[in-house]
Amino acid sequence: MTDSLPPVVSAVPKTNPAKPLFKVILLGDGGVGKSSLFIRLRKNHFTPILPKILSLDFHKKDVVVDSKEVEFEFWDTSGSERYDSVTRNYYRGVHAALLVFDCNSLNSLSRLYHWIENVKLYSEYALLYLVGTKSDIHEAETSVTDDQIENFCQTHKLYGKFCISSKTGDGVDEMCEEIARTLLQRKRESFKENMSENGLQYSISMTENQEEQHCACLR
Ligand code: GDP
Repeated sequence: MTDSLPPVVSAVPKTNPAKPLFKVILLGDGGVGKSSLFIRLRKNHFTPILPKILSLDFHKKDVVVDSKEVEFEFWDTSGSERYDSVTRNYYRGVHAALLVFDCNSLNSLSRLYHWIENVKLYSEYALLYLVGTKSDIHEAETSVTDDQIENFCQTHKLYGKFCISSKTGDGVDEMCEEIARTLLQRKRESFKENMSENGLQYSISMTENQEEQHCACLR
């Protein structure tokens, strides 16, 4: 009797070409509200005091934008950023990074510099977004101003900015839709570039689903 060969297991995760998957990581210092945003994205609710279990955690979330479905994989450092143990693996294959700061702490904005350096080092093609949390709190003396936010975005060439509250949920859905729209657009553009680089003619009449299927074949 001959031993049968083990089944071939692909190392590449199976994705649905009609529903692109985008990896998005949350970055920022402890206390700025990353885990609260993660819970809002995951369960659509707010827990004022969150127990910190040190581990990297992710959650998949479907978002429909302009009648097109995309799947996000949101990653949270779950407190491990305090120990600087966020490794290169966390940044691997990232499509977008959310640079999270507390709208009422200029220091938390300035300290994002360290995270920006890391993300540029390990995921040079990721889109960088600034996310101000706790927009439900208005403390006139400590609030970060629009000018300070704008300057920061320009200095670090960030792609966009959002102001959200994980407590009330304000701005969270809009943020997801906006990021999904941009990443989809970017995917379409890179598909067209691939087509022309390979000397193939891009057909305008091609439907989006056909386009995505072709894209999967070319990879
Ligand atoms: P992390 O260390 O960056 O993960 O921050 P957490 O998510 O643990 O939040 C730190 C503190 O800020 C907690 O007490 C949260 O309840 C609070 N917090 C987080 N997001 C918001 C928000 O949008 N509004 C308000 N009022 N508090 C928030």
